[in-house]
Amino acid sequence: MRSDAAELAEVFSSVQGEGLLLGCRQVFIRFLGCNLRCDYCDTNVGVAVDTCRMELTPGRHDFRMLANPVDMQQVIALLERWQGGWPKVHHSISLTGGEPLLHVDLLHAWLPRLRAHLPVHLETNGVLPAALAKVVKEIDYISMDIKLPSSSGETSLWEHHQEFLEVAAAADTAVKVVVNASTEHWELERAARMIACIDADMPLIIQPETATDLTIRISPLGLMELQEIAAAILADVRIIPQTHRFIGLL
Ligand code: SF4
Repeated sequence: MRSDAAELAEVFSSVQGEGLLLGCRQVFIRFLGCNLRCDYCDTNVGVAVDTCRMELTPGRHDFRMLANPVDMQQVIALLERWQGGWPKVHHSISLTGGEPLLHVDLLHAWLPRLRAHLPVHLETNGVLPAALAKVVKEIDYISMDIKLPSSSGETSLWEHHQEFLEVAAAADTAVKVVVNASTEHWELERAARMIACIDADMPLIIQPETATDLTIRISPLGLMELQEIAAAILADVRIIPQTHRFIGLL
């Protein structure tokens, strides 16, 4: 695999709609491909894509199409132009997917150059600890998932998440769990205890699954019960939906 070109879906400017950086303006770099198949996934992770769309003006949706793989020098040039033309607008770069850590060799080569412009935020499914270990020193913020079997359909990831958490603790890390009406109390308790073994102050975000018509797939009472279970174990447990979808942002 080339280390100067990446399989990307899109590069654009928007507002972070999830987690602890909620509301921050970010440059999103969305990587293609994922090693999981979550039931609630809203990304076409198994679909091969020949082109990447790259926004020309931050937040204006004036995309141009680039052939994949995209030369990373083009991403760096875009960052330089946006930082020069729209200084102080962006808080950070969000590496998202798919699963960005599938591209670890490329990240290892390019993270120092990305980070020369803005801090780097990694959004990850939290199951590739060896890949994270190679790049964690060049990452400022991590939002990692713990995939609960009931909502994700992924049933055997607990040990991978545990190993990942141990590496991720070196960065400013928050954990996210997606929940729905099927989520069982023991799942939240197991996730919270796993986090507490590493750092009981690490934030846990409970994100209710949201349908395409914006219906929330768990009751308000169900959400609060899950929060109560985790809050008995962890210091910082928050309920945050995918806010960008409610205000029509990418
Ligand atoms: S980890 Fe994320 S991108 Fe991959 S299948 Fe699950 S929801 Fe989709």
